Amino acid sequence: TLQVAMSFAMLSSLYGDFMQAVGASIRIFDLMDRKPEIPIEGGSQIVDMEGSVEFQDVFFTYPSRPDTQVLKGVSFKVEPGQVVALVGPSGGGKSTIVNMIERFYDPESGWIRLGGNDLTTLDPQWFRQQISMVSQEPTLFACSIKDNISYGKDCTLEEVVEAAKQANAHNFIMGFEEQYDTLVGERGVRLSGGQKQRVAIARALIMNPSILLLDEATSALDAESEHLVQEAIDHAMKGRTVAVVDKGKIVEQGTHEELLAQDGVYKRLVLRQLMAGATNGLDFNINNDK
Ligand code: ATP
Repeated sequence: TLQVAMSFAMLSSLYGDFMQAVGASIRIFDLMDRKPEIPIEGGSQIVDMEGSVEFQDVFFTYPSRPDTQVLKGVSFKVEPGQVVALVGPSGGGKSTIVNMIERFYDPESGWIRLGGNDLTTLDPQWFRQQISMVSQEPTLFACSIKDNISYGKDCTLEEVVEAAKQANAHNFIMGFEEQYDTLVGERGVRLSGGQKQRVAIARALIMNPSILLLDEATSALDAESEHLVQEAIDHAMKGRTVAVVDKGKIVEQGTHEELLAQDGVYKRLVLRQLMAGATNGLDFNINNDK
């Protein structure tokens, strides 16, 4: 069972191409910054660690931008089995929160716990294996679709097919002549962004991690893929709670309906997204509570 899943960046397409350009440059910073002083060895490995995630009063500033505090006292707790969608304007701090769960950075103050254990006491290499990340641009390997989904795990074709069905990938895979044996990569078929994400979601379901991080980034996908990826994510997540991240803080938390009733940031984001959908002639379906 998937114990905790978080998804974010759902509504981050609000500022259009300009912010996407900024987003692209931020991601390059990200890679350059990812050589922090986090030790790669040592620390505890916890048998059957539960998948809870807790932030308590976390403040954070990127070393490369000492003038800008990015997280300003973030607190939340995700229980095992609970699903949280981090939603908010672009630049609000969602990716930063996810980077910190993987301990690419340590908080300036405050603490982060996984399964009740302070992150700084855990073996980073080990706990990162407990986390599955479906990123905006997942990496697939130059091998068959089946091997990409099973990812070195010993499992039957039936299990692979079941995961692919859950992830809305089965139908397009069956459309290839060689089906699950189809090669991907340079010498095989080229998959669209949405198809890659669905294969990555199937892989995450097979890996059965204690923590699943989903970067939906549906903004990068065409309407059809977006719908299918969203549906795949909905399958993978039941009863999600929404946490709204704005200017480095969690400003609202609750179910989709509760937050709509609150008349706050979430409602404004949803309305703006709906309006953007209408002007693009797309049929946006914001229903994350299936
Ligand atoms: P988006 O929805 O566009 O992905 P986000 O809510 O995930 O945005 P973050 O990427 O966490 O927001 O960014 C929060 C702030 O931190 C922004 O002001 C951004 O410019 C800054 N930032 C992000 N990554 C870095 C980095 N590696 N170095 C310096 N500043 C960064």
